[in-house]
Amino acid sequence: MSQQFDVLVIGAGPGGYIAAIRAAQLGFKVACIERWRNPKGDRVLGGTCLNVGCIPSKALLASSEHFESVQSHLGVHGISVKSASIDVSKMLGRKDQIVGKMTKGIEYLFKKNKITWLKGHGKFVGRQADRFAVDVFENGPEDGDAKDRVEASKVIIATGSKARHLAGIQVDQEYICDNEGALQFETVPKRLGIIGSGVIGLELGSVWRRLGAEVTILEALPDFLAAADQAVAKEAWKLFTKQGLSIQLGAKVDSVAIEGKGKAKQVVMHYSDPKGEAKTLEVDRLIVSVGRQPLTEGLGLESVGIETDQRGFIPVDAHCATSVEGIYAIGDVVRGPMLAHKAEDEGVMVAEIMAGQKPHIDYQCIPWVIYTSPEIAWVGRTEQELQKEGRAFKTGQFPFAANGRALGMDAADGFVKMICDKDTDEILGVHIVAAAASDLIAEAALAMEFKASAEDVAWVCHPH
Ligand code: FAD
Ligand code: NAD
Repeated sequence: MSQQFDVLVIGAGPGGYIAAIRAAQLGFKVACIERWRNPKGDRVLGGTCLNVGCIPSKALLASSEHFESVQSHLGVHGISVKSASIDVSKMLGRKDQIVGKMTKGIEYLFKKNKITWLKGHGKFVGRQADRFAVDVFENGPEDGDAKDRVEASKVIIATGSKARHLAGIQVDQEYICDNEGALQFETVPKRLGIIGSGVIGLELGSVWRRLGAEVTILEALPDFLAAADQAVAKEAWKLFTKQGLSIQLGAKVDSVAIEGKGKAKQVVMHYSDPKGEAKTLEVDRLIVSVGRQPLTEGLGLESVGIETDQRGFIPVDAHCATSVEGIYAIGDVVRGPMLAHKAEDEGVMVAEIMAGQKPHIDYQCIPWVIYTSPEIAWVGRTEQELQKEGRAFKTGQFPFAANGRALGMDAADGFVKMICDKDTDEILGVHIVAAAASDLIAEAALAMEFKASAEDVAWVCHPH
């Protein structure tokens, strides 16, 4: 006999666990299937974000920032520190403790909201009248027999994404890593190579550079941070290269191999620069951070008639409904930015739609943050996007070098750039590169959610 639920969620990352909790709060009988195991082999909730994404990377960013601050930034305040050292295993232990606390926290919330956690891999097996049937396997469909069958009239797919790897480059998570291995280096690599100068490359590159690694990033595109406003990208380039990140744009990686034995083992990369000149880079560790891809393997989508698009995403409408009535998909497995807070917002929206409410997400108001030093944050459109749209706009920019508090904090790098409609003054985009950009961007997102003009924001009394 199958277990019966009103709502079944597949995947317990920030999209899935939030959807499950909101659906339970709204009175549904909810189950969530999650298969993740931590390195000890224990089943855990929280998905990429909590286990190998946002939370562990932010923990390491904080530790490494303190280390760099003690080493390089306290002198200007008249503070001298004789010697500073880093205990990498303690730093990793702190990160793991935070991850453990957070994943246990989700487990507690599941119990509190009476959500059934089905531990294992979920696979659609078809539809029985108005209910969808999903099998739960201990590890995956390769197990042979499912350990459970569940049925629900509404299903939310929140299976997330996985790191994209490059053909011919074997990730072993020791010498050649994606985000998972790059969060676990037991010692600081002397020479660290990174393929891809996107968000992960810059954040994890910053972590290990601050701790002493010599970091070289190879980026395929000719432009740095192509998705960001180019004024911000230009400023960030200037600051990051000054910090010692070596970034080669327009690089074409031809081959990567692990060579040597024992302690002499190293990663040898052959690539060509934009002029086509052949180059070699030898490093102790390599991080491959060239984007992420939606995860739908072994999900049995064909049994319910859902087809993924060319890039592997599940097609959905503005309310995350798939082509099959009753099945929704949210988070990294669907279009839009691969961000935890976007997945969470979609989770809440879908649960509320199921309960007959009429929520809506304005995707223009989803902020981006890159947690480097200084941080980079933006919300809305860039100047380049507006130019392409042919929209009339005006811009205003203010440097932190002219802000007393920023000078007092020794955090005077960067600026805020605001872009507004030329006629109505409505804010269309805000772009910040600054120490506290992640905090400041929240006000811009709030203003844009309420369709504020620049003048509206100027009328608000800001503390000084
Ligand atoms: P996921 O978090 O990927 O969760 C999906 C879950 O589904 C997983 O637990 C998986 O085990 C499970 N699953 C998949 N298939 C099945 C199945 N068939 N059966 C059962 N379970 C299944 N975003 C930010 O907003 N801010 C950040 O600072 C940030 N930092 C990041 C740092 C790194 C290094 C990485 C890799 C990502 C970061 N992200 C960040 C992105 C963020 O982690 C993702 O956008 C977010 O996790 C997506 O949530 P999700 O719920 O869609 O998917
Ligand atoms: P990304 O899309 O941010 O960057 C990938 C980079 O790799 C791009 O610049 C791309 O041009 C480059 N690239 C692609 N193929 C290449 C090749 N063959 N050779 C050299 N360069 C190549 O992807 P990511 O850094 O892997 O991060 C994945 C996603 O995870 C992000 O897009 C983001 O959605 C999420 N994330 C978010 C945060 C955050 O919010 N702070 C942090 C980390 C990750």
